[in-house]
Amino acid sequence: RAKSDARGSFAFFEAALDAKAQSRRKIEVELRDAIQNDVLRPYYQPLIDLSSGRITGFEALVRWPHAERGMVSPAEFIPVAEETGLINPLGGLMLRRACLDAATWPDDVRVAVNLSPLQFRSGNLLSMVTDALKHSGLPPRRLELEITETLLLEKSSQVLATLHALRALGVRISMDDFGTGYSSLSYLRSFPFDKIKIDQSFVRDLGANREAQAIIRSIVSLGKGLGVIITAEGVETEAELSCLRTEGCDEGQGFLFSKARPNAEIVSLLAAQRGIDAADEDAALVA
Ligand code: C2E
Ligand code: MG
Ligand code: MG
Ligand code: MG
Repeated sequence: RAKSDARGSFAFFEAALDAKAQSRRKIEVELRDAIQNDVLRPYYQPLIDLSSGRITGFEALVRWPHAERGMVSPAEFIPVAEETGLINPLGGLMLRRACLDAATWPDDVRVAVNLSPLQFRSGNLLSMVTDALKHSGLPPRRLELEITETLLLEKSSQVLATLHALRALGVRISMDDFGTGYSSLSYLRSFPFDKIKIDQSFVRDLGANREAQAIIRSIVSLGKGLGVIITAEGVETEAELSCLRTEGCDEGQGFLFSKARPNAEIVSLLAAQRGIDAADEDAALVA
């Protein structure tokens, strides 16, 4: 009896595993299709300079408009893309499309693109970036590449060489989700980068505990010491914004300012900003 129960729960466990594997397999097949049929699109979320309130750039975030399931979240398919190697073509198309879109924006507005550690292992990341820049005509200084701490875990000399080569092109490197990885500070000495993005979990805790504020304060001071820009992710409330300003954070990104939007809406967002600039200039002329 006990034996058959055990076998029963094992069968149940196996079935659950099966269901999970099947759902991953389904995502894989559909994702491959979506990549081939050029269905994936970058949406763009603004990065705001906290002292002037101006848009300094946009982060490109992949969106998958799915016939039956609506907009599928990257949280669902990025892990599958990484397991199956589909992250390489996905990353390539995001890079090309983001550079093409950004080339139509004003010259002082940058675009940030997320890179998976796997893309560094593919061996063609550098040429992928060079091609995207050349094909779009986007100046390298307007492209920012976001990496995470896990990339640096392996302490690979090939990764380091690629980061140096990317930076030599004039492209900027951002450390994304800062504080959630293995967070050894030693890599800060050996890896060249231009920006630190404080993970949204710290921003979320700002109202709730004083430790979060102390952590943000020390990341900001670390950033000033290293001469890198500090961006806070996931800014949702005025209270968080005011706290981040007090701590001397350079940039913010979050739903308080805007969610990610399609490129067609970015163009009018930037036109509105130019309208405000023009009104300011008129006022200055009158004064
Ligand atoms: P990430 O790079 O840290 O991007 C920020 C995520 O936080 C985005 O989620 C964004 O929509 C979300 N977010 C922004 N502001 C707020 C806020 O105020 N509150 C909250 N709760 N969330 C906010 P999204 O678009 O779902 O992307 C999730 C992750 O998927 C990204 O995190 C990134 O790691 C990955 N990802 C997205 N697009 C790409 C891509 O093209 N390539 C790669 N390799 N990864 C990507
Ligand atoms: Mg990012
Ligand atoms: Mg992030
Ligand atoms: Mg994140």
